[in-house]
Amino acid sequence: MKITEILQSSGKPFPSIEIVPPLKGMTREELLEGIAPFMEFNPPYINVTCHRDEYEFVPNPDGSFTRNLVRNRVSETSVASAIMSRYKGVEVVPHIICAGRTTEQVYEELDNLRYMGIENVLALRGDCMVGEKRFTPTPGGFSYASEMVAGIRAYEGEKRFCIGVAGYPEKHFEAPNLEKDIENLKAKVDAGADYVITQMFFNNNVYYRFVKKCREAGITVPIIPGIKPLSTPRQLTMLPEAFSLDIPVELSRMLEGADKEKAYAIGTQWAIEQCKDLLAHGVPAIHFYTMGRSKNIVEILKECF
Ligand code: FAD
Repeated sequence: MKITEILQSSGKPFPSIEIVPPLKGMTREELLEGIAPFMEFNPPYINVTCHRDEYEFVPNPDGSFTRNLVRNRVSETSVASAIMSRYKGVEVVPHIICAGRTTEQVYEELDNLRYMGIENVLALRGDCMVGEKRFTPTPGGFSYASEMVAGIRAYEGEKRFCIGVAGYPEKHFEAPNLEKDIENLKAKVDAGADYVITQMFFNNNVYYRFVKKCREAGITVPIIPGIKPLSTPRQLTMLPEAFSLDIPVELSRMLEGADKEKAYAIGTQWAIEQCKDLLAHGVPAIHFYTMGRSKNIVEILKECF
């Protein structure tokens, strides 16, 4: 089933979760055990993130370097097939990125996903390689997610994928301003994207303002809020740095001097309040970034769904 059909037919807001493929060496059972606590809340779909290939450069005795491919994680298609075989009826939404791939590789991936019976993807540009300052498209690859969405629409036949794309309530860090970023988001929707999932945010007013501006800009597709509970004191600086977002003063003051346990409780309670408020404002669904943690998300789901 397509995510857009789920959104239309669900009748009430629902949670979805996003997982990161496990590091190699972790077993299938460990992966599925990690997901099991969420399943009590019937998420209709699970997103699986995708990670670009990284390389290590090993020095040779003659002074040259050999480039070795480093893949630390299990592929998202293996994770998708493990989930699909255990949880029938739960849709899997693999993320698909432009970074490090040619257009042909993207299309080949789509063919494989379709063969697996997958009808949904989240189309993203991806980030720079470690050590790079700015994103460099792969020769023969897409430069922006909007190009990839247009490419997918041109490539696929009648059996269309439902395509989600990313939106940034506090703007993407490379965009000169929120208005320009929303213009670029509209290009993704005009190219054929069916819905938007937002980057995490900790102040709901930022999301409400974003949705309002998107609607004013003519973006009419569903905009699903993405939530990640803050779970360690370190994330107070790490999250703004990694995702270019603001932590509200009230939350950062509450976390000042908090130990790990206290920070976890404060972060979870903050996310509960955020979700209750989002639901009261009529959001169609809430997307949870699990980042390998389940206890806090389960607490939030218990309170809100
Ligand atoms: P784009 O939409 O291409 O935008 C990138 C930047 O380019 C923006 O600043 C935009 O304003 C600008 N831009 C767009 N079009 C143009 C244009 N025509 N001309 C000039 N500028 C333009 N990363 C991963 O590697 N794997 C994942 O699984 C993953 N999952 C994610 C899930 C969600 C819900 C979100 C919000 C992000 C995820 N990311 C993931 C991170 C994402 O890849 C990065 O944020 C990346 O830097 C941008 O991706 P995008 O698809 O938003 O890019």
